Amino acid sequence: MSGRDANDRPILEVRGLKKHFPVRSKRFFSGERRVVKAVDGVDLSISRGETVGLVGESGCGKSTLGRTIVRLYEPTEGQIIFSGDASPDRRKMQMIFQDPYASLNPRMTVGDIISEPLAIHGIGTRAGRAERVHSLLRQVGLNPDHAMRYPHEFSGGQRQRIGIARALSAGPEFVVCDEPISALDVSIQAQVVNVLEDLRELYGLTYLFIAHDLSMIRHISDRVGVMYLGRIVEIAPAEELYGNPWHPYTKALLSSIPRIGRWKEGAGERRIVLKGDVPSPIDPPSGCAFRTRCAYAAEKCADQVPALKDRGAGHYVACRLQ
Ligand code: SF4
Repeated sequence: MSGRDANDRPILEVRGLKKHFPVRSKRFFSGERRVVKAVDGVDLSISRGETVGLVGESGCGKSTLGRTIVRLYEPTEGQIIFSGDASPDRRKMQMIFQDPYASLNPRMTVGDIISEPLAIHGIGTRAGRAERVHSLLRQVGLNPDHAMRYPHEFSGGQRQRIGIARALSAGPEFVVCDEPISALDVSIQAQVVNVLEDLRELYGLTYLFIAHDLSMIRHISDRVGVMYLGRIVEIAPAEELYGNPWHPYTKALLSSIPRIGRWKEGAGERRIVLKGDVPSPIDPPSGCAFRTRCAYAAEKCADQVPALKDRGAGHYVACRLQ
């Protein structure tokens, strides 16, 4: 973990953020307009130097949230304030993508790929940009000579290092890491996480780290948020969340982490298997969206969407049972 002070003034404030995608409807002629509510009302505040992890089943909206924050998608509703500015310099926010194979242009040299953001923004001279590329290649554990080669000459882990260098070339302060290791071989995932941690220290970066590997998220994050159907249902400092999960969905998610002896009879902890699938984000359940799978669902859970409430120690939970 970065160990930064989570009470610092936020570098990022997200308020009531929604990202809905229109879908083609069979009932088109009825005039009905249907939307996928990928992100449906997220409030999130991140301190400078902090790493916030984001977990949840696939389709819960975590990647869409990351992409909307860096403005790869225009928000449907809500505010994104970066360093106190609602229209920040986009160079300050960058993204590292999941798939290093798809995210690098195969026809460009590694040097051109890494320096492209600098060239687009007219930063530095040609010689200065080349020097920056060499320095970034060293910092991500590659050789400056690699600048002359093409992406297909590298392994998956090396390509992700190139992707990281490209994301950092224009000097961002905030980086969304969108499943940056899930496409990589297990044996090299830790190396890439180490590179990201070293660069965080070197540049004082702030990360929003999206992943489905719950153990890795615990390792790298200061705080962890849990998403379900487009909303954050629980967020807390990492050790607090993993040691004292409160929301029924978080408990189920964390119970899936295999630990030696955990599921032995009498071990006191058992795996919680959720019934059913995640409902469609086109037509989510009213009130608490988790109620169709929740063992504690009551009538009142259908009334209104539960807001995140402070339980102390920076621990926030959205559940009517509190
Ligand atoms: Fe379960 Fe109700 Fe809490 Fe939702 S609000 S998690 S349905 S108990």
